[in-house]
Order: sequence, then C-alpha cells, then structure tokens
Amino acid sequence: MNKVVQIFSKETKYQNESDKIRLTLRMILVMSVCISIFELAVELIFMDTVGRIPTVIFLSLFVLLLISSYYAKSKPVIVITNVVWLFWIASQLRIFGWASGAWQIVILMSIVPICCYYARMRWKLLMVLGLYAYLLSVYLYVEKLGTAVSPDPISSFLVFSCTSLCVFFTIVYIVYIFVKEERSEERKLVKYNIQLANQARTDALTGLFNRRYVLDELAKIYEENDPLGFCVAMCDVDFFKKVNDNYGHDVGDVVLKKVAETMQETIQDEDISARWGGEEFLLVFPKSNGDQAMNKLHEIQRKIRALEFNILDRSFKITMTMGLAEYDFESDVDTIIKAADEKMYSGKENGRDQIVF
Ligand code: GH3
Ligand code: MG
Ligand code: MG
Repeated sequence: MNKVVQIFSKETKYQNESDKIRLTLRMILVMSVCISIFELAVELIFMDTVGRIPTVIFLSLFVLLLISSYYAKSKPVIVITNVVWLFWIASQLRIFGWASGAWQIVILMSIVPICCYYARMRWKLLMVLGLYAYLLSVYLYVEKLGTAVSPDPISSFLVFSCTSLCVFFTIVYIVYIFVKEERSEERKLVKYNIQLANQARTDALTGLFNRRYVLDELAKIYEENDPLGFCVAMCDVDFFKKVNDNYGHDVGDVVLKKVAETMQETIQDEDISARWGGEEFLLVFPKSNGDQAMNKLHEIQRKIRALEFNILDRSFKITMTMGLAEYDFESDVDTIIKAADEKMYSGKENGRDQIVF
C-alpha cells in the first residue's frame, strides 16, 4: 500500500510545484483511467462495437497524460486533461446518452480550476459559467441528435454507478487534500495564539501574572464595583539583595520562584498574584474586605517564614513585608496601589517582617 501511495505522490523534477496540485492531477487522471477501463469492460461484455473505439482512444489519452504527470509540469497537464474531458464528455453523451453519467465530470471540472489555478476569483467564476454553458449546449446537442446506441439497463447502471463513484470519491479526495493542511495550519495558529497570549500575561521567572495583566484585571474589578469591594497587597522580600550577594543570583531566582509558589498555593481561585517587579509582588483579593485579606496574608507570612533554603552546607530563611489597602469606594486603582506600597514601606521602616494594614 505504501508503495502505491509513494508512486501516486511521486514528485516531478520541477521544483516549487505544489504537492496539492500534483496530487489533484494524479487523482483526476487515475479516476479517468479507471472509468475508461470499466467502461471498456462493460462495452466488451454487454454491448456492440460502437462505443469501443472512442473509449480506447480516450483511455490511451488518459494513460498518456498520467504518464506525463510524472515528467511534465502539473498545470499544463491539468489544462490538457480538462480539454480532453470536454471531448470525452461530449462523445460519451453522444454515444451512450445521459445514462453514462459522464456529465458529472463537469462538476469535477468546476472544482479543479477553483483549487488549482492561481487566477482571480472573477475568472474562476467565469470558467464555471462557461462549463455550465457547455453542459447545456451538449444537452441540447444530444437531445437533437439522439444517442448512437441505446445501452441496456444493466450496462447503463454499471457505467453510471462507476462514473458516480469515481467522481464522488475524487471530489472528496480533492477537498480533503486542500482542507487538511488548512485545518492543521489553523489549529497550529490557534495554539500559537494561546501560547502568545499566555506569554504576554505571564512573568517568565515565577510563572505568576505580570504587572500589565494584574493592572488590566484590577481595572476590570474596579469597573465591576462589587459591593463587597476588594483589597490590594504589596509584598516585598526583606533584604533580598543580601540573598543575591551571599548566595548568588541563581539562588535569588530560586527564592523568588519559591515565594511565588507559596503565594499561588495559598490564595484562592478568584484572587490574583502577580510579580510587580524585582522581588515585589502584588496580590489582589476581589470581593474581600481587609480582615479577610489579612487572614490570607497571615497564612502567606507563616508559610514564607517556614521556608528554609539549603545551599551546600549553609542554610537561610527569608521574611517579607506587606502593605494591605482596602478599596474605599472612592479612590482610583493607582491610589489604592500607592496606598498599599506606602504601607509596605512603613513596614520596612518599622523593622520589616510584618503586615501593615
Ligand atoms: P528591603 O528589605 O529594603 O526590600 O531590601 P532589599 O535588599 O530586598 O531591597 P532592594 O530593592 O535594595 O534589592 C532588591 C534586589 O532584588 C536588587 C536586585 O538585584 C534584586 N533582583 C531584582 N530582580 C531580580 C531577579 O529577577 N532575580 C534575582 N536573583 N534578583 C533580583
Ligand atoms: Mg526587598
Ligand atoms: Mg524591593
């Protein structure tokens, strides 16, 4: 099976040829060859000699075109195939009448240029209209002249069902190869956009939200103007510079990640923890009053105090100073953040490792 697929999709020596167009061309030619062989078999078994010669001629032409699809550029071969089809359809209808089902190829012919030609949509639509006019004129022509043979119902049914099956299958295949890539590209793009959106709101080191995101979220919470209000806490690691100086920047990073993790696991779903910058973190507690927020900050403080960092044979602990501000239903977001910041600084001045409310 793999071998067949390989032969079917084998590239030509021409570079920059579209895979989709090449596959479409092979498919329509394989389909034409299959229909012609089947038709020839039906003619040989069930019918007299009238239709055989044209069928053999068209079968040879389709085989030749199929072979040339491995050596020539795809587009000219598609154009020639379309022209051969026009004659083929006319001869089929003239010989066997509408029962042959050959007119269904016209539907396929209207899909192939839409997919394979790089022309403007206007020209493609014109082509489709041209095909429609062709179909109508062939109809009138056959109506006027009648058919050359009147095949028995079994032959008609066999030729019609084979042509329909091949045309249906080919249309589905062409749509599949053109849609498949688009769909996977679309999926990749959606995934990439989600990734980008996540990156845009996340702090790379700690994985917490970044300053821009928390400000956006705060603006939304402020706009909502919930009667329960909200609280904002500014939290800063005490003497963090010493951690960097004594143990190195990498250890400092580990401490920041651990602090972020501790905050994240302590706050609740609707609360927001963000890295404000450096070793400063901003916590937002929507629908909470100062006392409720204070409880959560106490828990964070307790957990931070309990952390122990072991570096080789040395170990150290850290503390944080936090400033908590409650929304007073008057001030704007900047003022509330500033109030939390000022409280945090007053905590620093008063000896650190404390929560100021
Ligand atoms: P205080 O108790 O007054 O807050 O003292 P402090 O040493 O924590 O304050 P200061 O603002 O003087 O120092 C903060 C340090 O944080 C300085 C800066 O080098 C360090 N820092 C900022 N961002 C990062 C980071 O991403 N990783 C590491 N390892 N250090 C950082
Ligand atoms: Mg600090
Ligand atoms: Mg600081």
